[in-house]
Amino acid sequence: MTAPVPADVISRLKAVLGEDGWSDDPARLAPRLEEWRGRWRGTTPLMVLPRSTAEVSAVVGVCAASGVAITPQGGNTGLVSGQIPQGEILLSTERLNRVRDLDAFDDVIVAEAGVTLAAVHEAAAAARRRFPLGLASEGSATVGGVVSTNAGGTQVLRFGSTRNLVLGLEAVLPNGEVWNGLKRLRKDNTGYDLKQLLIGAEGTLGVVTAASLKLHPLPVSTATAFCGLASATDAIALLARAREETGGAVEAFELMGRLGVALALRNIPGLREPLEAVHPWYVLIETTSGEPGVAEAALERLLARALEDGLVADAAVAQTQSQAHAFWAVRENQSGGQKAEGAAWKHDVSVPVSRMADFIDQATRAVEAFHPGVRVVAFGHVGDGNVHYDVLKAEGGDDGAHNALRDQGSRIVHDIVAAMEGSISAEHGLGAAKTAEALRYKSPVEVEALRALRAALDPGRIMNPRVLF
Ligand SMILES: Cc1cc2nc3c(=O)[nH]c(=O)nc-3n(C[C@H](O)[C@H](O)[C@H](O)COP(=O)(O)OP(=O)(O)OC[C@H]3O[C@@H](n4cnc5c(N)ncnc54)[C@H](O)[C@@H]3O)c2cc1C
Repeated sequence: MTAPVPADVISRLKAVLGEDGWSDDPARLAPRLEEWRGRWRGTTPLMVLPRSTAEVSAVVGVCAASGVAITPQGGNTGLVSGQIPQGEILLSTERLNRVRDLDAFDDVIVAEAGVTLAAVHEAAAAARRRFPLGLASEGSATVGGVVSTNAGGTQVLRFGSTRNLVLGLEAVLPNGEVWNGLKRLRKDNTGYDLKQLLIGAEGTLGVVTAASLKLHPLPVSTATAFCGLASATDAIALLARAREETGGAVEAFELMGRLGVALALRNIPGLREPLEAVHPWYVLIETTSGEPGVAEAALERLLARALEDGLVADAAVAQTQSQAHAFWAVRENQSGGQKAEGAAWKHDVSVPVSRMADFIDQATRAVEAFHPGVRVVAFGHVGDGNVHYDVLKAEGGDDGAHNALRDQGSRIVHDIVAAMEGSISAEHGLGAAKTAEALRYKSPVEVEALRALRAALDPGRIMNPRVLF
C-alpha cells in the first residue's frame, strides 16, 4: 500500500480543480476501484477529474512537489490491475473527452485521452475512414488506455498494435511539464522517439492527455467465415495458407476451442451455435479489400480448397451483416462466457506462430497433470501468435482451492512460454499483477536499462509506482 496522502496536498488538489473536478464520494468511486473481473479492489483518498491538459499539469505538479503518487485511469478495462490505485491519487481522464480534430486528407484524428475507442471509430466512420484497432472492450477503453497499454486487437495481423497506429502524443511528464508531440508525420527520424517510450508505459512515465492517430480508408468489400476444424495444428496450417493465397486480404484470424464456444453459448443469452455440427476447434476469418467482391472471392477460394483437402471440416460464410455480427459475438464472448464458471488462471501469452499448436498441446498436458479435472479454454488472436490460455476450475470445483494453486499453475504455463521464446504478456501489459513474474524472464541487462530510464524521468517514482520495473 502506498503511503497516506497528506491532508494539505488533498486540499491543494481540490483547490486547483474546483468543486466539480474531484470526488471522494464512496458511491462514485466504487466502480473505479474494482476491475472488470472483480479480481482486484483498490482504495484512494481522492479521485481527480481534470478537464484540460493544463489541469493535468497542475495536478501532477502538486503531486511531484510533495512526492505523492498518482494512478492514471481511463476506461478501467485493463486486465492486470495497473489502473487500480492502492492508496494513490486516482487521476481519471473521464473529462478529457474531446475529439480535437479529424483531417481526412492527412488521415489523422486527434483525440483526448478520455475519448473511448468506440467514439474514435464513430468519428472516423463519419469521415469515411476507420481506425483499425478493434477490442471487445472498445465501448469503455479509452485513447489514453490503449496508448498506455499498447493494446492490440483483432486487426493486428494487418495493421499492427497501437504502437503502429500512433503518429503523435501530448503528455504531462512526471515533473508536471507538458510535452506537445502531437505531430501528424508519417516520417520523423530525429533521434530517440519519446512517444514510443510512452506507448506501453502503463502510466509510469507520465499522463497521456491526447494522441494523433492514423486513419485508414474504409474497406470496400468484407467477408467473414466461421470454420470448424479437427485440431489447432490444422488451424495454423490454414493460417499459413490464408496468408499465401489471399494476397494479404486476411485481416482477422481468431482461434477458439470448443469449450470456450460451449461456455459462451451456455452463459451468454442470445448467442447461437455457429455451425450445424460440433467441432473441437473453430476459426473466425475476416478478409477485406479496397476492391468490390475481392474479399468474398478470396475467402471463398481459400475455404473451397481447404474443405476439399479436409483441412477444414465445415465452414459458414456470413451472408448478411447480422450473421457476421453473430459470428463475432461468439468470439467476443469467449471471456464473458467463462465468468459464470468461477475461478480461472488467466494467461495472455504469445509464442512464434509456428509453435502455437505445440504450445497449446504441451501446456494442456502439463496443467492437466498438475491439477486433474481443470478445463482449458484457449482462444485469441492466433494470427499474431497470441493466445488467451485460461485454466478453469473443474466443473463444480471449489474456487478457493483453484485460486490457491494459481501461482504454481501459471508458473508451469509461463515456463513453457519462455522455453519457446514467447512472452508472458502479449497484449494486456504487466500492471501490478504481472510485474514480479516478468522479472523472472527479462534479462537483468534490460531491466537495469529500463529502470535507469524511468528514474531519469521520474526520480520520485510518483507515477504508478507499483507498476513495471
Ligand atoms: C472484454 C475485454 C476485452 C479485451 N480485449 C483486449 C484485446 O483484444 N486487446 C488488448 O490489447 N486488450 C484487451 N483488453 C484489455 C483492455 O481493454 C486494454 O488494455 C485497454 O487498452 C485499456 O484501456 P482503458 O482505457 O480501459 O485503460 P485502463 O484500464 O483505465 O488503464 C490501463 C493502464 O493504462 C494506464 N493509463 C490509462 N489511461 C492513461 C493515460 N491517459 N495516461 C497514462 N496512463 C494511462 C493505467 O494507469 C493502466 O496502467 C480487453 C479487456 C476486456 C475487459
